Amino acid sequence: MVVSGPGGVGKGTVVAALVERYPDLWLSRSWTTRPQRPGESEQAYVFVGRAEFEDRIAAGGFLEWAEFLGNLYGTPIPEAPEGVPIILEIDVQGARQILDIIDDPVLIFLEAPSPEDQRARLEARGDPPEKAAVRLAKAAEEASAGVELGARVVVNHTVDQTVEELYRIITEACASAQ
Ligand code: 5GP
Repeated sequence: MVVSGPGGVGKGTVVAALVERYPDLWLSRSWTTRPQRPGESEQAYVFVGRAEFEDRIAAGGFLEWAEFLGNLYGTPIPEAPEGVPIILEIDVQGARQILDIIDDPVLIFLEAPSPEDQRARLEARGDPPEKAAVRLAKAAEEASAGVELGARVVVNHTVDQTVEELYRIITEACASAQ
């Protein structure tokens, strides 16, 4: 399952809560060249320099990777046990690549209840106002790309409801794949 959506919709919080509540799911941990934000968990990403990231690209170590607002982000080839549903929290460029390599992935596009709500979340997590503005502008672009890819739109009203909705979607997809 690919969970995409613009910055500030709470994707990270939702997927972390999802795998905590349902440990039968496997959450991929991405690599990034973006510096760690103040207060951001060490576990959020594998934080690396550009050279190390580029070496891994050259070695074929990513399932997909993309550049987003000047930083590189990539999904390492997953090491999930056979049969365990894999959750990727990636941008729409990554989602597009996954469509090319995986049969019938479940694509979710998470949206904030409102732009005000999204702006508040971006600022609350420590993005300076000018960065928050760039990310909000990028959000509109991503939303239309997500719809084009055929992603299911889920509005993140509360983490609790969203976690339950995503788990229901995964369970249904797994049942129909059998
Ligand atoms: P942020 O800097 O806010 O943590 O992430 C910026 C964007 O990169 C978000 O849309 C996030 O979902 C996306 N992202 C995170 N990890 C990956 C990845 O491994 N691959 C791709 N393509 N995008 C990622």
